[in-house]
Amino acid sequence: MFLCGSKLKNLNTQLKIKYPKFVPQNKIMQKDSFPKFKALLKKSNNIVIVTHYNPDGDAMGSSLALYNYLMKVEKNVTVITPNDYPEFLQWLPGNKKVVEFSKNQKKAASIITKSDLIFTLDFNNYSRLEGLGELLQNSTAKKILIDHHQQPDTYATLMFHDVKACSTCELVHEFIVGLGGKKLIDKNIAACLYTGIMTDTGSFRFDSVTPKTHLILADLLATGLHPSDIHSAIYDTYSESRVKLLGYCLTEKMVVIPELQTAYMALSETELKRFNNQKGDTEGIVNYPFSIKGITFCAFFSESEGKIKISFRSKGKFDVNQFARKHFNGGGHINAAGGRGTISNLETTVQEFLALLPVYKKEILKK
Ligand code: 5GP
Ligand code: MN
Repeated sequence: MFLCGSKLKNLNTQLKIKYPKFVPQNKIMQKDSFPKFKALLKKSNNIVIVTHYNPDGDAMGSSLALYNYLMKVEKNVTVITPNDYPEFLQWLPGNKKVVEFSKNQKKAASIITKSDLIFTLDFNNYSRLEGLGELLQNSTAKKILIDHHQQPDTYATLMFHDVKACSTCELVHEFIVGLGGKKLIDKNIAACLYTGIMTDTGSFRFDSVTPKTHLILADLLATGLHPSDIHSAIYDTYSESRVKLLGYCLTEKMVVIPELQTAYMALSETELKRFNNQKGDTEGIVNYPFSIKGITFCAFFSESEGKIKISFRSKGKFDVNQFARKHFNGGGHINAAGGRGTISNLETTVQEFLALLPVYKKEILKK
């Protein structure tokens, strides 16, 4: 039954229904239809998949899952990353064929120039590509965006965007299934998808995990994939110095502010060098203070080549995407976001952060 106009108003007065506030479309989802995706794919032969700067498990997992699928349907496809990524991701099937823009700028530029379709995965704003963004901006190729971050830009020809998805890998699974490719999801594609879902959900424990996520995981395991192999490849391959760096952060660097339910750590370049810091070594450290009862907001600052990178994480309602966007030139999700110092000085950046905490006290403490 459809009610409209005054009938709806009357019913509403009787039932006192509280309608949710209007939420802009780009904050929930925008998924174009599969006939459109199919038509675009059909006429595209030279395909490029691009993901964000400093690719993480979901960035590489989703890119290589889609790469392996497109190879299976006989497309000419290349994954291009803006820069290098951690060693613990370099076993993913298809990894050897990835072109790193920072090391092969001419090759990457030539591949992009020849491409007729570019997938942009796990980001939604060219600024997340650093130098590679300019190549995409100048490219006339059609673009398909697949992503789960807040507030997407409008560069894409077609979108497969949903902020409720736990990971871009979850969306790539849905995308392949939607194209009719479910039977083509083999153990290699499953390994890539499982990696991204696992790393973006803190091993399946964040609020973003839904029954649908577990149904997808069940499908992936049905390919013969051993979850313990993936967990080991990602989490049991630390160097001794990486484990010691974690110990140092927790014993020497962690600052807890109980009255603000906040904890943070800040590491200088000298400190990172002392522990022979390699790409990816600091990943995940930001989350450890959540183990302390009551902590709902965590931040991690690190200095590298004169730049300050920041990770923000929250539990509950405090929107770190907005916080990072507004104050630290960043963004991400409601409970996980990144940004950078507005000036290249670690102490000053931390001071800026500390000065903001009382301003956001209400939001941080809100359950
Ligand atoms: P991380 O702290 O692990 O680097 O990032 C947390 C989340 O925020 C990830 O989903 C990442 O893609 C996103 N993110 C990190 N840095 C930025 C940034 O500078 N801008 C935007 N828009 N998102 C970011
Ligand atoms: Mn992601």
